Amino acid sequence: MLALGPEHPGREYRDLRIAVHELPEAERAVAVPAVAMAQWHRLHPHCPRCGTVTRVSEAGWVRLCPACGTEHHPRTDPAVIVAVVDDADRLLLAHAAHFPAGRWSVIAGYVEPGESLERAVVREVREEVAIEVDRVRYRGSQPWPFPRSLMCAFVTRAPGAQEPRVDGREILAARFFTRAALAEAVAAGDLTLPGPASVASALVAAWMAG
Ligand SMILES: [Zn+2]
Repeated sequence: MLALGPEHPGREYRDLRIAVHELPEAERAVAVPAVAMAQWHRLHPHCPRCGTVTRVSEAGWVRLCPACGTEHHPRTDPAVIVAVVDDADRLLLAHAAHFPAGRWSVIAGYVEPGESLERAVVREVREEVAIEVDRVRYRGSQPWPFPRSLMCAFVTRAPGAQEPRVDGREILAARFFTRAALAEAVAAGDLTLPGPASVASALVAAWMAG
């Protein structure tokens, strides 16, 4: 999204989902929480217990219900993002229906209520590409406040000679790549990878580096 705001002529407005990758760390550390908090205030004006309009408190970090007294805090939705590597050291990438044309990435999905991160990894990989994984290893996290996610990155192993199967609706295609095949596809312009500062990109780069 590119737009010139009438109140600041000549200044450029950009979608933070794209611009976040270009910001210096100090600016990102301000912009990302600011967007997350603004979205929370915008989307949660009422008390979920009694429906009364809540008041901003604690410099914006709390919303207080004047009717029932409940304090409401911003929530974060955990999601898992998973590099699946097979016994031949190939990386699984998928093309999801909501991706731009040509974009491939690692598997991702939201953690369900009552579920551990590790179980979410196993379930998401099974649901999206019908592969059974083991050895789930944590690799770091990235806040993604669009509107309120926390991406938790993992590497996991697909034992045996499993090949992905997709549903054709949420995931349109998936396959294992060797390093040479992936480098060739990117160089030929057949495939684009996630943005350079994303946790998905870090997972792919770590696998590429061996
Ligand atoms: Zn209330």
